[in-house]
Formats: sequence, C-alpha cells, structure tokens
Amino acid sequence: MNTPVNKDQQKNFAEIAVPVPLRRTFTYRVPEEYRDDIKIGARVLVPFGKQLLTGYAVVFHSEPDAGIPVEEIKDIAELTDTEPLISDEILKLTQWTADYYAASWGEILKASLPAGINVSVEKKVSITEAGKKQSAADTPGKTIAAKVLAYLSENQAAPLGELAKKFGTGARREIPKLAKNGLVEITLEEKEEKARPKLRRVVRLLKTEDAKEGGKKLGPAQEKLIHSLAENNGEMPAVELIKAAEVSASVLKTLEKRGFLEITEEEVFRDPLSHATLPEITDIVLTGAQSGALQKIEAAIAAEKYHTFLLHGITGSGKTEIYIRAMRAALEQGRTAMMLVPEIALTPIFSRRLRAIFGDEVAILHSSLSVGERFDEWRRLKSGEARIAIGTRSAVFAPLGDLGVVVVDEEHDTSYRQHEMPFYHGRDVAIMRANMSNAVVILGSATPALESFYNAQKGKYEYLHLPDRIGNRPLAQAELVDMRDVFTEKGKDEIFSDQLLATIEETHALGEQSIILLNRRGYSSFILCRSCGESIKCPNCDITLTFHKRVNSLVCHYCNFRRRMPEKCPNCESQYLFYVGEGTEQLADILRDKFPQIRSARIDRDTISRRRLFEETILDFAAGEIDMLVGTQMLAKGHDFPNVTLVGVVSVDAGLGLPDFRSAERTFQLLTQVAGRAGRGDKPGRVLIQTFYPEHYALQYAQHQDYAGFYEEELAFRQRFGFPPFVSLASVLIHHSNYEYAWQTAQLVRNCLQLVNQEKKVIVLGPAPAPLARLKGEFRVQILLKSPNRKRLREVLDRALAEVQERHGDMRIVKVEIDPMNLM
Ligand code: ADP
Ligand code: ZN
Ligand code: ZN
Repeated sequence: MNTPVNKDQQKNFAEIAVPVPLRRTFTYRVPEEYRDDIKIGARVLVPFGKQLLTGYAVVFHSEPDAGIPVEEIKDIAELTDTEPLISDEILKLTQWTADYYAASWGEILKASLPAGINVSVEKKVSITEAGKKQSAADTPGKTIAAKVLAYLSENQAAPLGELAKKFGTGARREIPKLAKNGLVEITLEEKEEKARPKLRRVVRLLKTEDAKEGGKKLGPAQEKLIHSLAENNGEMPAVELIKAAEVSASVLKTLEKRGFLEITEEEVFRDPLSHATLPEITDIVLTGAQSGALQKIEAAIAAEKYHTFLLHGITGSGKTEIYIRAMRAALEQGRTAMMLVPEIALTPIFSRRLRAIFGDEVAILHSSLSVGERFDEWRRLKSGEARIAIGTRSAVFAPLGDLGVVVVDEEHDTSYRQHEMPFYHGRDVAIMRANMSNAVVILGSATPALESFYNAQKGKYEYLHLPDRIGNRPLAQAELVDMRDVFTEKGKDEIFSDQLLATIEETHALGEQSIILLNRRGYSSFILCRSCGESIKCPNCDITLTFHKRVNSLVCHYCNFRRRMPEKCPNCESQYLFYVGEGTEQLADILRDKFPQIRSARIDRDTISRRRLFEETILDFAAGEIDMLVGTQMLAKGHDFPNVTLVGVVSVDAGLGLPDFRSAERTFQLLTQVAGRAGRGDKPGRVLIQTFYPEHYALQYAQHQDYAGFYEEELAFRQRFGFPPFVSLASVLIHHSNYEYAWQTAQLVRNCLQLVNQEKKVIVLGPAPAPLARLKGEFRVQILLKSPNRKRLREVLDRALAEVQERHGDMRIVKVEIDPMNLM
C-alpha cells in the first residue's frame, strides 16, 4: 500500500516512490545539505539495488518507521530539482491511480512526466596515477585488466558500459577489483539529459553608426546587415538575420565587437505545429439540440463543482463544437481545460483546429511528438502560458492548475486503457481528476461504452443526447453482404464481392472518396504448408506469423519477431507454401491493380510509425488529393471528411470470434463508427459490410445504427453471464518462460485466494492458460476474479497477494489488472 502524503515533519527521512513494479515506497535518509531545499514532489536520485534511479519524494519523517533498521537506510544520492515538478494535485491523483489499479506509484509518477525528462546515471571509470604506472609496467594486452588500464591510460576515463562492450562482460568483474587496488576510480555521472531547453541567439541593434569622430566606416556587408536588422524593428534571430542580409556569420561578430549590436541567448519552445497550415474557422450557429446540451454544461462549469456528462451524439451530430465552447467557457472563467483523444490518428486534425481557435493557449501532448517538443509543450502548461492540453491517454496527468473542464472524446475507445504496466484507464483517471479539482467532465461518443451508458441510466452521469446529424443529413445506409452467397456463386473464396467492387468504381466516377477497412495489417495473415498442413508460427508466441511483402518477411504482431520469408516449409521442406487470409498490405495492392485510376493510400500501424508521412496522408485525403484510404480500425475514428460517400468493410469476422466478452461490443462500435465516416457532407453515404455471419446481433444492430437495441441485448448477456457492469473484474496473469514455474506460482496464488475467500464472496476462475497461452517466449496463466462488490474484490485480492508474498511467491511474474479491458 502506498503511504499517505504528510507534509509536517522534519525532513530527516523521506519516502521515495521509485519507478519499479512494486506497490510500496522506500525510505531514504535526507543528507543535511538537502534538508532545506527538498520539497514534496521533487525528483531525487536514489541507490536502488545496483542502480541509481530517479524517484519522487512523497513524504518526510523525523524518524524512520518502526521496524526499519536505521543502519540499513541509504542516503539520497542527489536532489534533482529544488522546485518540484510534481504538484500536490498530481501527487494526489497519481496516488489514487496507483491505489485503484494496484500499481506502482513511482511508475505512475514516471508516466505522468514527459519522456526524456528523467536523468539517467552511468558509472564512469577513470584511471589513477597508480593505475598509469601499473599500465606502463604491464605487458600490454595480456589480461582484461591490462587491456582496460591501457585503454584508460590513453583516454583517461570511460563509461563502464562502454568498457564492458569493448573488452567483454568480464570487465564488469575486473574493474571493481582494479578500483579496490586503487588503480581506477568509479564515479556516478549523469548521462546527457535527453530533453533540454532549446536556445537561440537573438540580435538587437544598439546603434546604426559610429559616434566616435573618425570611427571606421562600415563595410558594405556590415551596412547590409544593419539595414536588415533595422527593417525588422531592430531585433531578429541570428539565423534569420544572416539569411535575410545574405552575409556571413563573421559580419555579425565584428559588429558585436564594435558595439553596434548585442547578441543574447533566449529560450525557444519547439512547436509541433510550427509548419502546419491551420484550418479556417467558420462561424457556426448551434442547433437547438447543441445549445440545449451546451447550456447544461456551461451551468455546471459556472457552478465550479464536479459533474460528469455523457454526451451521446450520433456521428456527425456536432459534438466537437460543444467541446470547443465548453473549453472556452472554462477559459473565460480563468480556469484551464483538457481534451483527451483516443489515438494519435485523431490529433493532426483536432490539434490544428484547436490551435486555429485558441492559438498559443493550446499545448499538444502525445506519444509521437519528439522528446524535445513534448518537453516544451509540457513546460508551457506547467508555467501557465498554455491553458488547454490536448493529447492521448497520459495527457490526463498534464500539469494544469485550476482545471475547469475535461473532454474525453470517443470515451468508449479501448486505447484509453494502458495495455501494459502500469495499467490505468485514461477516461476513469480523468473522471477522478475532475472530481478532485471540482471540474466538469464531458464523455463524448456515438457509441458509449456499455459501462458509461449504464452509469448514465443509474444517474451517476448526466445524459445528454444529440439524436440527429447536423442539417438532418441521413445516416449512411448500411448493407450486409453475405459472403456465403459469394462463395456459392463463385465456387471459391473471394476477398471482394462484385457489389463492393462496383460501388468503389461508381463512387470514384462521381468524384467522391471511399474508405476501405480491414482489421488485419500485413500482406497475408499466415502461411500454410499444403504438404504437412502446418502454419508457420512465432517461436516466442502462440501465434502465426504474418507475411509482410514490402520487407519480404514474416512478422509476429505481438513480439515483433521477424524472419525472412522462407523458400521451403521449415517443418517438412516442401515448397508448397500457401498464403492464407489477406491483410491491408495485400488489399491495397489488389485495389491498386484493379483500379489504377484511383489514387489510394494505406493507413495502419505499419505506416503510421512515420509520423510526418501519416499526417501528410490524412491531410492529403482531407484535401482531396487521395481518393481512397485503405486501412485498419484507425480509419474508423472521429474523422470528418465530407466527401467520403463510401465505406467498405472487407471483413470483421475475425474480431467477432475473439475469446473476449467485449468482442460483440467492440465490433458494434467499430462498425457504427466507421459507418459514421460516410455521408458527412451534402451527399448521402453508403456502407457495405462483408461478412459470413450476417445474422450476428452486433452486425444487425450496427447495420441499423441502433445503439439502444444493441445496448439492451448486450446488457442482458452481461447480466446473465456475470460480466461488467454487473460485476467488477480483476485478472491476475502469471507469466514465465518456464512452464512449470509459471504453473506453480499460479497454484500458490490460487491457494492464497482460497484461503482468504473462505466465504466465497468473490468468484475465482482458474488458473487456466490465457487465450494467448504463450507470448514473447513466456507461458501465461490467468486467474480471473469476479464480484458484484468492488471493495470486497479488492480486499480479497490484496490479502491474497500479501499472503503470496509472505510465502515467498515470486511477485515479479505476477501481473494484476483491475478492470481488465482485454482478456487475452
Ligand atoms: P461529431 O463529432 O459529432 O461526429 P462534428 O462535430 O465533427 O460531429 O460535426 C460534424 C460537422 O458538422 C462538422 O463539419 C462541423 O463543423 C459541422 N457542424 C457542427 N455544428 C454545426 C452547426 N450548428 N451548424 C452547421 N454545421 C455544424
Ligand atoms: Zn510442411
Ligand atoms: Zn511473437
């Protein structure tokens, strides 16, 4: 358990939250020299095992807790900041997050800060005089020790890691011995801080001519430079000035020496949108439904009390306009605003739009910014220069003071959930943050998560409904194309029905755009040998490898294992390898072959890794320079492309078959969202969904965009089989490369659960192999906990895990996930 924050103590000792996967803080002594300066929320360097780690001071004590032997307490090695980076509010929020998700406070704190801000430390080895003498006497190059000394005699000092690389890992053993004998010294040094402020030189004009009688006259180049500077009101960045005046940098120096100008260094903020063209802002008169919803939101913001709204508006109903005005209302009150978006796919257009409206008040925080850009945007928020943060999941911890409103767009989206440790859900943390800061939350979606809709029905959230599209544009007509009929007719499997192909062609002929979606990247989903019937699997995972044609490789989508495409079957050496199942890469190829006149581009996780390329593609599509986008579910989200009139879904069947109780909900959401991309302008849209299971209820309701119908049926299913929102869930995943060891630990966890759950208040399922039984070379065993009572579930879980620890179970291989989103 994490200790509470307490500030009124003498600062002899400090509790430090360290970013390691352990649910506790650690006690360190505060050296005299730091006692005046150290504050709660400051970063410190502490020795942890063999490393030095950046931790966060969260509590001070005059005496260490009883039971901790004073002589075992280590000193804080260094105080990193005297002005804490972490505010009380963020400290409280991260503590709550860590407690709620049974996660490490230090890991959450680390995740709350921009990447690259933490200092890392390395061991540096330098040679002493004695060492030099010894080296001169040695026969060079005999032993590792002699090699190291010879190298250091020449270079004076080197990082330990570098020496180990050069001279083998044996150096790690030998160097401490050399240190003992006084031949070398080992010190800890900070590595380059990755993110640092960017500086630029600015030139200011002091005078235009030499006042002194007989002063030297200015040369023509010097005249030119002064002229350029004067034209710019006497102040310009050096780089621009030299360019404008077309002179060399030496001219600048000479003039500075002669006192004509001064050059100072100023900090500049790197701006992720510095080269972006911003959209034009048109005046919009709200519809009746929009202003009704906005009035309620504005009243809640004015009341400065916590309140959560669920804004359920169908695709194209104008939710964004409500977000913008709500944020403006908060700003006008002198408060701040935050907008979370699910994935980077949405940020290029959204952040440009917000920038166009709110200017420099907007800071952008998301994972594909450069480290420097993120650092600067974060500091602009921290200093109060920017008052709106827009970003993905971790932006929920943005350093905003006096938060007025939080918008969570596409609140149902699963990418708000962090899928690795520390697990947390951005939407749920956002609600807690608003709660702590008396702010208003707007959860917006066309397909609210079942849990959110349920909360609205129970009155926990206030429900706001936008049932119609702007301008009463009709929702696109969705048609299900039964691929069984296509099979019967053609006598074989086809990727595309004639109907979809014809519609693609028609759409293009009308000068309109289309989106083609398939939830599988790569070229083909797996490779099958016709001779022995085996498919080629990942050596580390229980998963078939996917063929990626561009790189002629087989790739594992879970662990990123890669191998060249083999010419023969690795099992039986036959040459009859057969590609099964199409991926987006192949789809794009086929469409390009069939329709050479259609300009198309592909969007999936493989292509978005290059941010600029990805942004360009989205913006080109918006500008009509691309006719068709082919890609994965990323295309389904939130975009507003008015000229898109066709959405074709090649297949969603794989998603329906996933062994996860949310698979119907996800498929419904995906189809409804993607259908919402069609017909957003003046022209009506069409949606074609190819499937082998047209009678599945998720498809039926999605076809009619019937959220209420789906909600009712799905809720009945959840109630019957005991799934959220009727029960709380926790999953315990035990993972290890040794099968026996994983199972033994799982049994121990199970036994401890039984011990503390005698009254059977919590349902315990398992241990059983997880649906992905092997991943990244590790076996995975799962235990599921279910209870209608969340508190009781946590009690049982915490007591059981304490018992596991008591019995020396290996907690390092036990991953706990509260409210798991993905039971794979
Ligand atoms: P949603 O996010 O609900 O899918 P958007 O906010 O993207 O919908 O709105 C859809 C389109 O309608 C956008 O192009 C938007 O600029 C436009 N729009 C929104 N509100 C109005 C309005 N009151 N009058 C005219 N156009 C509007
Ligand atoms: Zn074979
Ligand atoms: Zn793998």
